[in-house]
Amino acid sequence: MLKKLWLSYHQWYIKYSGFSNQSEKDTLSFFRDKLFVSILILTLALGYFSYFPSTGMAIILGKWSVVYINTLAVLVVTFLFFNKQMTLKTKKIVFSVNFFVLSFVLVIDLGLNGNGTLLLFLLGVLMTLYSGRKAGVISVLVTTIFYIIIISVYYFEWVDLRFFEESSFEVVLIVFINNVLFSLLTVFSVSFLIDQLHNALLKESQLQEELIEKHKNVIKAKEKAEQSDRLKSAFLANMSHEIRTPMYGILGCAELLKSYNLEDEDYKEYVSVIEGNGKELFDIITDILSISKIETGLMNITKTEFNINESIDDVYKMFLEDAEAKNIHFTLNNFISKRDFIVNSDHNKFTEILKHLIKNAIKYTSKGDSITLSCSLDGSNTSQLRFHVSDTGIGIPADKVKTIFNSFYQVDVANRSTLNGSGVGLSISKAYVKMLGGDLELESIEGEGASFWFSIDIDLQND
Ligand code: ADP
Repeated sequence: MLKKLWLSYHQWYIKYSGFSNQSEKDTLSFFRDKLFVSILILTLALGYFSYFPSTGMAIILGKWSVVYINTLAVLVVTFLFFNKQMTLKTKKIVFSVNFFVLSFVLVIDLGLNGNGTLLLFLLGVLMTLYSGRKAGVISVLVTTIFYIIIISVYYFEWVDLRFFEESSFEVVLIVFINNVLFSLLTVFSVSFLIDQLHNALLKESQLQEELIEKHKNVIKAKEKAEQSDRLKSAFLANMSHEIRTPMYGILGCAELLKSYNLEDEDYKEYVSVIEGNGKELFDIITDILSISKIETGLMNITKTEFNINESIDDVYKMFLEDAEAKNIHFTLNNFISKRDFIVNSDHNKFTEILKHLIKNAIKYTSKGDSITLSCSLDGSNTSQLRFHVSDTGIGIPADKVKTIFNSFYQVDVANRSTLNGSGVGLSISKAYVKMLGGDLELESIEGEGASFWFSIDIDLQND
């Protein structure tokens, strides 16, 4: 509550006085000015608060000099408070002089019993705070000169200083000397503290600037990396497209050559080598083109109605021969009971997902292992079909289970057999599954096999 009141009072005054120093916000002089404004408005509030009781008391005691000087001091502070023309520097000087005069009169009039000596001590601290060490030292000097004059007057009894007669000359002398020394000590300590704080602040703002600069550089580097990533994808897409066109020619000619010489076995084998390698190359290029399109957001989905069981059978048959050639048991467990089960999905993407998973299963298993492709209606969600491709092959290390879905990632690049691939099959499959309304997941134990599963939306009612 008190804090809120103070804040709104402070803000009102800042607005009223037009105090602002935006351009030098970090400099020490700005902080000193700000501090002076706070001291000024606090002094006005406290001044009026203490003015009435202390002046009333002085009137009762007949101490008219205290009444006059109190009134003058409060009026001067009020004037400084409301004056908009005077510079802060002049205000600081007038403020300091005002308090010097007030303290002098209090010391002369009330001796060691009054607040005069305390005020002089505090003035040294305040001046160090709002005007710096030099001003603090000057304030101690002025106080010293004043004390010397008072001591001399007292010693030589030039004027009748009634209040000092209560204490002996030695006591007054020691109190004054102590006051001066403590003032000096405090002024140096406070100014040292302020310098340290200022240095720390400067360092902090310098660090902040460096941090902002670094942040900007990081953003620039990120933008650059993103741009080159986009360029890379665009380049790959272009190149793949360009290479695919002549590949059609090569494969088409290989097909024609097959029927040319049906007797010569060597000839037939050479043609099938061209055809086999050509198809492999074609698949790799197609994969690169697909991943480039996925990464640049250009891959579209084209849904048509098709018989899912026929597609599953086609893919199964396509790889059965390869599996048998490697002596691997490849089993199809299709639990989709209705033979002509029609779905509305992207046929091409669906078969690509299955092809990639089965191709990998064959690639990463060896003689005697087994592969199972299972298909069923998703138990919990009847608008989805669920597929499982599991094998008893080499499996995937636990720490790689997530990363293998990243483009171009292969578990063991040192192993030549894994290099037989571009490392994009799984990332393409994952992206396609997402496009078809599901997610591709994996469970594996290294050395025991891997199991991939996913669901796709059916989008049609099959009763
Ligand atoms: P690749 O063309 O290398 O097969 P993929 O993206 O299809 O690329 O697979 C990424 C990596 O995941 C493979 O290099 C392989 O290390 C691992 N992997 C994929 N499927 C299997 C699997 N069934 N068994 C073991 N490792 C697999």
